[in-house]
Amino acid sequence: MIPLLKRLGLNTYDVDKTPHIEVDQEKCLRCKDKPCTLSCPAGTYEPSPEGGIIVHYERCLECGGALVICPYGAIKFRFPNGGIKYKYG
Ligand code: SF4
Repeated sequence: MIPLLKRLGLNTYDVDKTPHIEVDQEKCLRCKDKPCTLSCPAGTYEPSPEGGIIVHYERCLECGGALVICPYGAIKFRFPNGGIKYKYG
């Protein structure tokens, strides 16, 4: 059996041309702690200099963690047209 980390390293991502994540910037401006920036293992969410959020949707691993941790329900997510491709299993 292949160890988990090695197995995850076999995944590839077919990045969608259209963003599959949108945030409500009005809510993000009011969100002081911005927990999405800490919870995402891929660095999808980055604070903007203006106080909102920059979304690097192409980094998304589709784990859903930011949807769970966002205290304002500011994230609209759909699964991307491309997405994860598994080379194993
Ligand atoms: S946690 Fe939600 S409301 Fe706060 S900055 Fe991130 S997406 Fe915006």
